[in-house]
This record gives sequence, C-alpha cells and structure tokens, in this order.
Amino acid sequence: MALIVQKYGGSSVADAAMIRNVAQRVAATKEGGHQVVVVVSAMGDTTDDLIRLAHQITDRPDEREMDLLLSTGETISITLLAMALRSLGQKAISLTGAQAGIQTDAAHSRARIQAVDPRRILRELRHGHIVIVAGFQGTTPGMDITTLGRGGSDTTAVALAAGLKAEKCEIYTDVEGVYTADPRLVPQARPIKKIHYEEMLELASRGAKVMHPRAVELGAVYNIPILVASSFSSAPGTLIYGGTLMEIRNKVTAIAHDPDVAKITVLGVPDRPGIAAAIFGPLAKAGMNVDCIVQNASIEKTTDLTFTVAQSDLEKAMTLVDPLAKEIGARGLVSDSQLAKVSIVGTGMQNAPGYAARMFQTLYEAGINIELITTSEIRITCIIARDKMELAVRSLHRAFELETAET
Ligand code: ASP
Ligand code: MG
Repeated sequence: MALIVQKYGGSSVADAAMIRNVAQRVAATKEGGHQVVVVVSAMGDTTDDLIRLAHQITDRPDEREMDLLLSTGETISITLLAMALRSLGQKAISLTGAQAGIQTDAAHSRARIQAVDPRRILRELRHGHIVIVAGFQGTTPGMDITTLGRGGSDTTAVALAAGLKAEKCEIYTDVEGVYTADPRLVPQARPIKKIHYEEMLELASRGAKVMHPRAVELGAVYNIPILVASSFSSAPGTLIYGGTLMEIRNKVTAIAHDPDVAKITVLGVPDRPGIAAAIFGPLAKAGMNVDCIVQNASIEKTTDLTFTVAQSDLEKAMTLVDPLAKEIGARGLVSDSQLAKVSIVGTGMQNAPGYAARMFQTLYEAGINIELITTSEIRITCIIARDKMELAVRSLHRAFELETAET
C-alpha cells in the first residue's frame, strides 16, 4: 500500500459535475489499495473573481485580509470534494492548510512553506480517510492565514508529498502532460513521457504554464517523482524525475515561450563598481522580478545595461529606474514593451555549442531579429519581437526535429 498525493487544478473542479468526476478518480485510486491525500485548487476562476471583488471595495486591499479572502476559494473546493466522495460511500475528510499542518512565513500573498506538520493528516489516514487538503494556503506561527502566490497549489501538493514521505505526487490538470511545445502554437507538439527536474524547472521558469516552478524545485530537492497528467483522460502523462547522467539524451527536449516580456536599457552607464547594485538593489526591494540581465563590455569607460521584466511591471520599473539612472550619470533610458522570450531546453545541450548555432540560424532563416541572448547549462533563450513569437516556436520545433523525436 502506497501513499499517493494527488492534486487537481481549478479547471478540473470548475463545477459540480467536474467535482464528481474528480471524486470518481480519487475513489478509484483508494480502491486500488492506496492511501490518498488530495490537494485541490479553487473552482475555475474563483481566485480571479475574489481579487476583482476586493478591488471593487478598495484600490489597496490589506494583505492579511486579502489572503484570508483568497483562501476561501480552496476551502469551498475541499468541502465539496469531501461531500462528493462521501456520497460515493468513501470515508473522506477535508482540511484547511492550517488544519493540515502547512506552516509558512508571514509574507502575505507570497508566503513560503517552512514546515509541514504531518500529524493530523497521518491520523486521518490511519482512520481510513481520504484526506482532502486546501492548496495554496497555510498558516503563520501567529495563526494568520497566508497564501503561497498564484498557482501555489502545486507547491502545496509537492510539499505534502515530501512531508508525508509519499511514494509520488500526481498533478492532474486540463492538458495531457508536458509537451515538446505549447500544442496551441504548434499542432505537431508531442507529449513528453519523462523529463528531468532540471529541464522541467527551466521550462516552467521560462513560460511553460503546466507546472509551477517552485513545485518542481521542491520535487527536485526532496526527490519526489511528479506525474503531470490530465484529469479528463487516461493518457499516461509526463513523469518528472531525477534521472541519471547515463540517461542524458543528446538533444533538445522542449521549447518554452513567454509572451509577457518588456526590456529596459540604461544607456551610457559609467563603468565603475557599485553601479549594478545601485540599480538592481531598489528593484529587488520593490519586489520586482527582474529576469535576463545583460551588461555590455565597456567602451571608453561606459557600458549599456539591459534587463527584462514582465510587461505589467514595466511602468513601475521605469519609475524606479529613472531617478537612479540620473543619479549615477547614465546617458539615457529606453524601453520596449512588445517582446517575447523563446527558449530551447535540454540536458543534452551541455557543452555542445552546435545547439546555439542551430537556434540562431533557424531564427535568421525565419527573418527574426534577436534582441538579447541568455543561456544556462541546459537552456538557450532569445528575446525577440512578440509578433514573431509563434513563428519562432514553430520554426524551432521543426529545426530540432521535435515532431518526430523519441520523448
Ligand atoms: N487558486 C490559486 C490560483 O488561482 C492557486 C492555484 O490555482 O494553484 O492562483
Ligand atoms: Mg487556479
């Protein structure tokens, strides 16, 4: 008998019929002789609706109240799923994050899980219950309710799998796993059978929406195998796992894209110590997520400093950087809000320069200009014009032969 943690996302529990469908699947797992802990997200667009509602009351909702408000979305789902399971004759109990022992820091709206106290869940499992836990929420040492950031239920599920020493964590969603590219952009995209944590982390951080990067990271740290699969079909899904060096495939595994990119360039920055710190310190303090950072080699003691932020953060970032640029004596500041990011990812790319050349040649042949390039050991990212993004993803998918690759 194994302990399995399953997570069902908001689109899998969007209405009563779907909640009953999830209950059937959970019951089948239990009947297969397993102990089951289920994490659920809020129904459909509930979280967005609650955020909108709060903003109808005030422009600046209090963080603590906001977290308590948003936590109600998941509280609705767990109770309804427990009822659905009971009506199937199963023993089931719902627990809020606090009741389930999810302990977080006090950073409202982006809290980090600090520990999982598994005692209550284990007790309920011993009593033969299916335990249903509210995703995305936890509690501070002072007993205030926190939320983990948008999409945080994945993180709850993997953290519980680690805390309960579960055999595996299954993430059920509205797509059949992780694809070689977004099938909405590339009809030939194919589901990937197995992928390494590192590769999945790169994809998730570069725009692949199927899993939250924090959850992948946790899975890697605690070595929890994660299956991503559809809650509507019996397709096998994608296994995210540790793999060994022996299994490294000599190829690109998948292509990620992110249409939400804006670029800021500080021109003619004096080349002396402390300048980058002077700019990025205040941005970090303001909680701004800065992504690619590129500094040119300096010519005649000045350099250009370019970085990217989400499009929605551009205005705020410009307001912050403008006075800083003046202060350090930069020549000017320019921005571009119409950009996108395309990335090729694969452990097989390590120390193989041919991949970069092939990527650049492919984009060139498609008539696409590259604005910025950044790389990691297993990823190459190009920033390009947003209206060229689809073309870029399709061309790269073809160039790296992903429609026929063994996945
Ligand atoms: N309901 C939350 C959100 O929409 C958490 C989640 O779905 O994972 O962000
Ligand atoms: Mg959601």
